[in-house]
Amino acid sequence: MSNVKFLSGENIPLEMHKVRMVQRVNLIPVEERKERMEEAGNNTFLLKNRDVFMDMLTDSGVNAMSQNQYAAMMQADDSYAGSETFYRLESVLQEIFGMKYFLPAHQGRACEHIISRVLVKPGSTAIMNFHFTTTKAHITACGGDIEEIVIKEGYKIKSDAPFKGDIDIDKLKELINKLGRDKISFVRMEAGTNLIGGQPVSMKNMREVSEICRKADIPFVYDASLLSDNLYFIKIRDEDYKDVSIKDIILEIASLTDIIYFSARKLGSARGGGILVNDNSLFLKMRELVPLYEGFLTYGGMSVREMEALAVGLEETLDFDVISQTPLIVEAMCNEFVKKGIPVVTPPGGLGCHADAMEICSHIPKSQYRAGALAAAIYIAGGVRCMERGTLSEQRNADGSERFSEMELARLAVPRRVFTLSHVKYVADRMDWLNQNRQLIGGLEFIEEPKVLRFFFGRLRPVDDWQERLVKQFRKDFGDSL
Ligand SMILES: *Cc1c(COP(=O)(O)O)cnc(C)c1O
Repeated sequence: MSNVKFLSGENIPLEMHKVRMVQRVNLIPVEERKERMEEAGNNTFLLKNRDVFMDMLTDSGVNAMSQNQYAAMMQADDSYAGSETFYRLESVLQEIFGMKYFLPAHQGRACEHIISRVLVKPGSTAIMNFHFTTTKAHITACGGDIEEIVIKEGYKIKSDAPFKGDIDIDKLKELINKLGRDKISFVRMEAGTNLIGGQPVSMKNMREVSEICRKADIPFVYDASLLSDNLYFIKIRDEDYKDVSIKDIILEIASLTDIIYFSARKLGSARGGGILVNDNSLFLKMRELVPLYEGFLTYGGMSVREMEALAVGLEETLDFDVISQTPLIVEAMCNEFVKKGIPVVTPPGGLGCHADAMEICSHIPKSQYRAGALAAAIYIAGGVRCMERGTLSEQRNADGSERFSEMELARLAVPRRVFTLSHVKYVADRMDWLNQNRQLIGGLEFIEEPKVLRFFFGRLRPVDDWQERLVKQFRKDFGDSL
């Protein structure tokens, strides 16, 4: 977003790039969409891409790469050990984050696995602003537990708070006192908090958390997967950082933390992941696990081509025009939703637009998965694939009872540099229709429920014939439209 003003005063997310390669997408008729949803067990993860018009499931591994990233892939040095590509990537990371050691991994959750294996002891607690699905799964798989202490504002759908991902400092101090240093595996801060609406973390909060961790000698782990959106919000929403370069903001963040890890499927618009650390003994402990689970130390499960693309993608993250495109288009979409009275998480975050299924589907019992039902209905209504971020994405309690999520969100992710303003308007239009006909949306129940990360491949069915009624209403209102 360079400084371009429109005569009309309108706020238009003007792209500072042009599109020179495209992919054809299909929009199948609503009757077929209902059938495909049924075949997919009402789980948007199980849809086939050929049946999806707009894939807003995730921003993971589906971001548009730049011509320079593609060009870099051609110079990859294919060798098992000692690849030039690795050293190029390592030096870019050391330069950008100013940290000593880099360990490659095949994606973000692999970093979580390694960090958890080294730091999480059975019976210990990891304290964090908010969990991410795979983070929590790895911590609990190591016998640990989590405590989430995001500020109260973080749980509010409608808010003006600029940094809803911040940690509640009083709660952090209380928890450290209550549990004691030995029962705490680490404190984790997630940039652009994924599950509560892509909401950013402030620099002030980072500094406070860092100081407390350093005093208590607790490792401070930073999940930088959604760093690029968070950087944009620091520049835009924090007066003190408006003139600070992106490079200097990243260096300051890094100086406050002990371990940084990221999913390169998001950060750097490539595929892969990595861990950065300064402490030599931590590095050595984590390093042991890389060849065992990921691959040799100079690729860690990534292809050398992706590593080249990542190195360039990370450098491009320092460009404000590059990192602003997603937050701006998310904001445009969020504003469309608000204009049409569709309940949505505000202020707009990064990552995507989060429709509030708790409210839209308030007539459905919580035990029938409000956000899951809305996600299924969104696909039927528009061929748009989003992701449930609510109770379905939780794990059941140890006694088998349901752990009801505080928020029930249908997350419409916006892959970076992939969709246009007309796409955004289309989604808002179908969401508007759905919201007006929300009483037609009904609940879901499991027919197959996996024990771990059930949202990935669990199968559900509608509790009655509500999806047929939805299709009938669609035909009535839209005639022969797709
Ligand atoms: C996606 C994501 C992860 C996991 O990364 P993968 O590459 O999908 O394994 C971890 N943390 C956050 C915040 C994420 O958004």
